[in-house]
Amino acid sequence: MPSTSFKAPRGDTRTCPTWRSEAILRLLYNNLENAERPEDLVVYGGTGRAARSHEDLERITSALETLRDDETLVVQSGRAVATFPTHENAPRVLIANANLVPRWSTWETFNELEKQGLTMYGQMTAGSWCYIGTQGIIQGTYETMAALARQHYDGTLEGRTVLTGGLGGMGGAQPLAVEIAGGACLAVEVDEARADKRIQRGYCQEKTHSLEEAVAIVEDAAEHGEPTSVALIANCATALPRLRKEGFEPDIVTDQTSAHDALNGYIPADVPPEEAQTLREDDPEKYLEASYASMADHCEAMVGFQDDGSIVFDYGNNLRGQAQQAGYERAFAYPGFVNAYIRPMFCRGRGPFRWVALTGDEEDLWATDDVVTSMFPEDETLNRWIEAAQERVPFEGLPARVCWLGFGQRDRFAKKINRMVADGDIGPVAITRDHLDSGSVASPYRETEGMKDGSDAIADWPLLNALLNASAGADLIALHNGGGVGIGLSTHAGMIVVADGTQEAEKRIENAFITDPGMGVARHADAGYKEAQRIAEDTDAFSWWGTRQDR
Ligand code: NAD
Repeated sequence: MPSTSFKAPRGDTRTCPTWRSEAILRLLYNNLENAERPEDLVVYGGTGRAARSHEDLERITSALETLRDDETLVVQSGRAVATFPTHENAPRVLIANANLVPRWSTWETFNELEKQGLTMYGQMTAGSWCYIGTQGIIQGTYETMAALARQHYDGTLEGRTVLTGGLGGMGGAQPLAVEIAGGACLAVEVDEARADKRIQRGYCQEKTHSLEEAVAIVEDAAEHGEPTSVALIANCATALPRLRKEGFEPDIVTDQTSAHDALNGYIPADVPPEEAQTLREDDPEKYLEASYASMADHCEAMVGFQDDGSIVFDYGNNLRGQAQQAGYERAFAYPGFVNAYIRPMFCRGRGPFRWVALTGDEEDLWATDDVVTSMFPEDETLNRWIEAAQERVPFEGLPARVCWLGFGQRDRFAKKINRMVADGDIGPVAITRDHLDSGSVASPYRETEGMKDGSDAIADWPLLNALLNASAGADLIALHNGGGVGIGLSTHAGMIVVADGTQEAEKRIENAFITDPGMGVARHADAGYKEAQRIAEDTDAFSWWGTRQDR
């Protein structure tokens, strides 16, 4: 019987030859410890998997348990292929997930190939083994909400209502992130068990099946300037039009249902979640038809809220693309969140830097929290986040933290972590990030939507990012297709560097945390963003060969 629950190893004793392979093994099992459906190895985001099958997981584990520091393990879509002799500063693990030759890069082909056992959907951090539970996305969502509040209000969501959908692995972060930013969140979730999970973890306050009650809760809280959150157990495709009809006027509307995957993610109206899997298997065509029709209704209601005066933005799940495919013409009437709120940060190489205390000792994490706040006291968003995270964000799996850091900050802090390990203040730490980052992704409906120079679909950048990080000394590099928005719609790269306290690690860390956000700065400078050009011209860390000319 395949295992249905997993736990990342803890403590000082390794089963792998070195901390570099041990770190990767622990992160892999940490992914599974935090997985939405561990029995299927699905970590989050529809069918984002950590390994292709249970047998593959065993094989990867055996490969890591014998992986030396002069060898590199190659993993093809969740299957260990071979271990090659390389050298000490080469990556220990190279991963490619769900990549298809562009012309064949569609869900239909992918599903067919997956059925044949040839590939696996890795989402972003699921297949690159650096998922840290919902905390990762809480931080990103908080950054988005904070940027929105700065742009539209007085820097806070106090007194504002946010309507959204989806309380899954990623979407489950929304209620808490809205609360940290001061707002009142109404999240529509069709699967009650998912809502319960978020409530148990303290990410959402309460739930109701009553639309009227949900509205009353958030309106009352907003009126009193109090943060709150409520899960409405309902299907977005029917609940949103009804909420609108009944006169609810949310300040902000967005969505994080698994719309990127019409078959295995989104649940159509009138399909109870417990029956969805049977219908998918019995009649996938009927399921898809219903799913697309529901997504069109869902998206239309969001556009309707925008027409009524709400601030509406797409939260990176390709609902607009799916609704357009279903024939809804105004699907792209509202913007994507990166274009609207995140890009100015990407121009500075700012993005989701994260680290994991590998021995499982929470004290290690508190110590690094203290260091990051003392190193960057001027960064108010960062300091507010760390304080809120310590109070309200429970650790899931190994103790981990994420905070957004920019070019010039990441290398400094990462080196400091390695020195703390060297001094014996803390145990070994894995440093990593989301694929949703400044220089690591091409995704025209999300991270690279509306680029200044029109380079939205140019996928050279994430490929170069991966190659460069591998050259710089990252311990794990992963190149994926389709994360966030679905097969064929994005190319992106992940990375992990292990701080084992050695001098060699310090050099690898320094290089990799200059190259990684540095590619983000260079990519945005090349696209004509002035802030990125200023940073690229002023830095001594790399030479930029572009010019400041606008395109
Ligand atoms: P998930 O599969 O873990 O959860 C999706 C949730 O949506 C489930 O709880 C499901 O029950 C619910 N749902 C599905 N159809 C619904 C409907 N019609 N009405 C109400 N609820 C419905 O996925 P996730 O990891 O939470 O990711 C959600 C989406 O967000 C994905 O498309 C993902 O690609 C995208 N995403 C965005 C970002 C970002 O930064 N913006 C990051 C990661 C993922």
